[in-house]
Order: sequence, then C-alpha cells, then structure tokens
Amino acid sequence: MKIDLRSDTVTKPTKAMLEAMMQAKVGDDVFREDPTVNELESRIAKMFNKESALFFPSGTMANQTALKLLTNPGDQVICDKYAHICNYESGGASFNSGISCQLIDGHRGMFNADQVLNAINPDAYYYSKTSLVEIENTTNKGGGACWDFETILDIKNVCKQNRLGFHLDGARIWHALVAKNETTEQYGDAFDTISVCLSKGLGCPVGSLLVGDSEIMKQAIRIRKTFGGNMRQAGYLAAAGLYALDHNIARLSQDHLRAKEIGAALNNMGIIKSVEPIETNIVIFELHDVVDENEFTQKLAHKNIHIISMGSGKLRMVTHRDYTNNMHEYLMTELKKMV
Ligand SMILES: *Cc1c(COP(=O)(O)O)cnc(C)c1O
Repeated sequence: MKIDLRSDTVTKPTKAMLEAMMQAKVGDDVFREDPTVNELESRIAKMFNKESALFFPSGTMANQTALKLLTNPGDQVICDKYAHICNYESGGASFNSGISCQLIDGHRGMFNADQVLNAINPDAYYYSKTSLVEIENTTNKGGGACWDFETILDIKNVCKQNRLGFHLDGARIWHALVAKNETTEQYGDAFDTISVCLSKGLGCPVGSLLVGDSEIMKQAIRIRKTFGGNMRQAGYLAAAGLYALDHNIARLSQDHLRAKEIGAALNNMGIIKSVEPIETNIVIFELHDVVDENEFTQKLAHKNIHIISMGSGKLRMVTHRDYTNNMHEYLMTELKKMV
C-alpha cells in the first residue's frame, strides 16, 4: 500500500470516471465541434454566472491566459508573495505578458484591501502601470487557507475604483466552496476571470478552465492557440470533468476531515514544532530544529508514506480522492508510533 500525500494531483481516474470518458461524444475542438467540450464549457460558465468558459490543458495555461487578457506589456500585477503565478509558473508572467509582479507580504497567502491600495502605483509615467490584482483561493503555499469573502468584496471595490482587473486562481476553489459553504455564483460575480482545476481535488487526469464574460474572453482562444494549448478530441478529457462536477465535489469535506485528523496527530508528536491551521486538504508543518528533515521524510518513505518538502523547513501533506480510509488508519497508527 503506497500512501502518496505529496499532492492532490496524484489521483488516477476511477472506473466510473473512465467509463464516462469511454462514452464521450467527441469531435475536433479546433473547429469547436467537440460536443462534450462545449457542454463542459457552458456548464462551468453557467455555474459561475459568466458568459463564457474555455477548456485548457493546465491551470498554468489558464492563469497565464488571464494575465495576458487583463494586462499590457510593462504593466504590473498585484499578488501575494506566495502566489502560484509568481512562484510556480516558470516566470510566465514576464515571459508571456511582459509584466512584473508587485508582491504583497500577506498572511498565509492572503491580504486585505488596504494592502492592495498601498501596492497600486501612482499615476505617473515613470511607474509601471498597475492593471490587475490576482488572488488564490484556497492558497497553495499558504496551506490551503480560505479567504474571508468580505475581504474579497472589499478588494473588488478597490479594483473597481482604480479600474484594475481582478483574477482568481481557483485551482482549489472547490475546496473553499465546500469548507465555507459558498457558491460558484458569488465568486463569478466578484471576479473578471477565474481559473479552476479539474485535476486537483476533483480527480480528473487533465484539465482546467478559465471563465469570464464574453467581452474579456473574446481573445482567450487566440491566446490559448498562441500558447500551443489547442486540443482536438478533448471531449474524452471534458467527460471526466463533467463526471467530477457531478460526483467529486461534495466528498471533498472528507479530505478536509482527514487533513484535520492528521494535523491533530502531528501536533501530538514531540519532534514537531508547529502545524499550520488546517482549513481544507493541505497540512503544512515544521520539525524542531534538532530533527533532520531528510531523515524524517526517509523514515516515512520506508513505511511507504510519501510527503514533500516546501523548503525553509516546511513539510507538506495533501489529502485527496485516492487517499483511502485504510491508508488513513495506517498513517495515524504509524504517526502515533513515531512520537
Ligand atoms: C496546481 C495549481 C495551479 C495549476 O497548476 P497546473 O499544474 O499547471 O495545472 C495553479 N494555481 C495553483 C494555486 C495551483 O495549486
């Protein structure tokens, strides 16, 4: 039994999902003739109360397309210092859109409207033009933290008053919706564009979407093509997405519960210095300085428990669809032994 808690991207499609994929009606999506892709796009658009959605091969490409849509070369995007668009997209913001990131020193990947106001450049020709604010919900490097929706609305107002675009990296938005009992519609109303992932908590093999109103999304398909992201009979992948929307959202609360139980077990271990608050499916913790990080992860690996380091002494475990009850019981027993 291999227990893989490195990421929620390690899931494999279930039999039922594969069956849905096998049954998919497909066509050439470059001609916009794949009925299953079209169905997924219109379903996601409706869910978020937006006019348009586009299917992408990755969350990175969906985010990068949003940055390109909402900025011009030389502009600046305001985001948290932990932001995926700045840390984990291979410098794409500057490479693809010619923009720089104005980083906010937030708390667990989150910040407030005043911090945004302070980060906006004055309107003088020698500054770069601030044109976009980007946030992440849940925050990845911030440990799966969920934003307070009131804060999001305050930031939206700042964006409106200063004519800034507002993009949500919603790779794990499903987790926030379940944890906070929020709706897709309220998020759609708050943001210009939202990227969502099907291949994280929802258990699909591939796929992300970008949603927005038609005026903004008009150029999205051209940008996707420029990035090399057009696909042909992608309906097989879209079918997995449709299946996941029907079957794999409500169950996320189970991942959250298990993550909290893991956190409590870690908190009882003498060798562990601290565990960050757990709201969703990500557990980030630190070992005491005297404990060797490599030795600790090796010891777990010998028990066939796999986790990753986030750097600067932080370790991460992520619960997901393929982390079963048996695995959970085994992990809890092994952690207790390690005290
Ligand atoms: C995983 C992730 C993405 C997208 O990653 P891909 O591997 O390109 O699909 C974007 N933002 C956040 C916060 C993520 O965790």
